[in-house]
Amino acid sequence: MKSVETFDAVVIGAGPSGCACAIILAQQGRRVLVLERETFPRYHIGESLIPFTYPALERLGLIPKLRASSFTKKYSVQFVAPSGRASQPFYFFNRYDRDSIAQTWQVLRSEFDSMVLEHTREHGVEVREASEVVEFLKEGDRVVGVTVRGPDDIAYDVRAAITVDATGREAMAATRHAWRRGDPKLNKVAVWTYYEGALRDEGIDAGATTVAFIPGKGWFWYIPQHNNRVSVGVVADGKYLSRDGVKDPKTIFHREIPQNKWIESHLASGTCTEEYWLTAEYTFRSEYCATDGLLLIGDAYGFLDPVFSSGLMLAFKSGVLAGDAIHQALSAGDCSADQFDAYSRVMHEGMENMRKLVYAFYDPNVSFRTLTDDHPHLQGPLTDCLSGDVNRDFSELFEAFSKYTTLPGVLPYGFPKNSAQALGNPVSSALPSVAARG
Ligand SMILES: Cc1cc2nc3c(=O)[nH]c(=O)nc-3n(C[C@H](O)[C@H](O)[C@H](O)COP(=O)(O)OP(=O)(O)OC[C@H]3O[C@@H](n4cnc5c(N)ncnc54)[C@H](O)[C@@H]3O)c2cc1C
Repeated sequence: MKSVETFDAVVIGAGPSGCACAIILAQQGRRVLVLERETFPRYHIGESLIPFTYPALERLGLIPKLRASSFTKKYSVQFVAPSGRASQPFYFFNRYDRDSIAQTWQVLRSEFDSMVLEHTREHGVEVREASEVVEFLKEGDRVVGVTVRGPDDIAYDVRAAITVDATGREAMAATRHAWRRGDPKLNKVAVWTYYEGALRDEGIDAGATTVAFIPGKGWFWYIPQHNNRVSVGVVADGKYLSRDGVKDPKTIFHREIPQNKWIESHLASGTCTEEYWLTAEYTFRSEYCATDGLLLIGDAYGFLDPVFSSGLMLAFKSGVLAGDAIHQALSAGDCSADQFDAYSRVMHEGMENMRKLVYAFYDPNVSFRTLTDDHPHLQGPLTDCLSGDVNRDFSELFEAFSKYTTLPGVLPYGFPKNSAQALGNPVSSALPSVAARG
């Protein structure tokens, strides 16, 4: 006989989205269990935060811990042409409050995720590591919990009014139910590694994210971290990166370095200290965000090309929104799919707005610089969307983009199953403003 335990909510995955959701529920007195397959610290990609991660981090009480940490402070982003010519850095404090939104961090995920996990435990959440969820428990179509395989390899059941899928890009619910929908135009490949001793810029530029272009093909990220470490990766179409039959990540990476003179010169003084990682086909959305008793958050709900580093912002935001929505649903005694309609519309709108900018970025006919030279008053909205303030009305901005490119149509995915309201009215006007502008 398998043993059975009961909680208000069970969260699968202790990444940023799962922990955020669990903390919000625990703050409201709910009994939450988080199940994590790995034992932390564990490696993870996704190391650069953007300014509008701040409101969620503040709500979760993580800002004092981040301020006391060794993580590199990030004040700006810059873009570099293949020739090596760098743009003027964009400093967030030129638009946002210096004491909150305008400074963010470059993190090492093994350390950052462990910090968030400990913080989650401090809120009274029970977190079990080395505990893999192997099955959803169902009564008819309703999800009523999960089956877990613990560290001793013994399986047991956990029942809860709501099960939260925060399994990251593995997207357990979307994969098992065949809800995973790719985005063919954003079907890129990323190859990355880490350097020590590579060149860092001076002063407040030392923690800047650099996006360095490869002629017409793709881009490098260059993310300075603490301990003299730099995360560096290249993203482009798979066909281009593997041309002439090259498949080995190390060979792919080193072949691209000379394609950008800034990257070449910055890496010249450094030593590659770690293995080479490769991932492919990563942009997707789940057809549904909820069924009765089940809610999807973070990357398990949808993942967008990382060019604008939006992943952690969306993960934390979805975790916080989901925590509030679940608390309300539990209070109403109704965790059916429709309870998560408002949650889905906020996440859908935010991802769609960011996705339009990602499409524009990859169109060689589009220059963000030209757009803002032609329409100086759109510099502000463009900056807001890129900084992660994604639930706003950007119709004028997108109208201006459509003179240079065809922006993608809205994806009809990511709403609750059974919801009659899929693709309802935009939500931006109904949302409180989270931005503190300086
Ligand atoms: C190449 C690349 C570059 C990126 N760069 C950035 C960046 O610069 N900035 C940024 O903000 N984002 C970036 N991202 C995105 C970022 O990594 C994610 O958006 C973020 O980690 C999502 O958090 P999450 O909590 O949803 O999922 P995750 O952080 O992936 O956490 C999911 C957790 O679930 C656990 N899990 C999975 N299956 C099970 C199971 N069956 N049972 C129990 N546990 C399970 C996993 O072990 C994991 O710990 C990048 C992504 C890629 C691919």
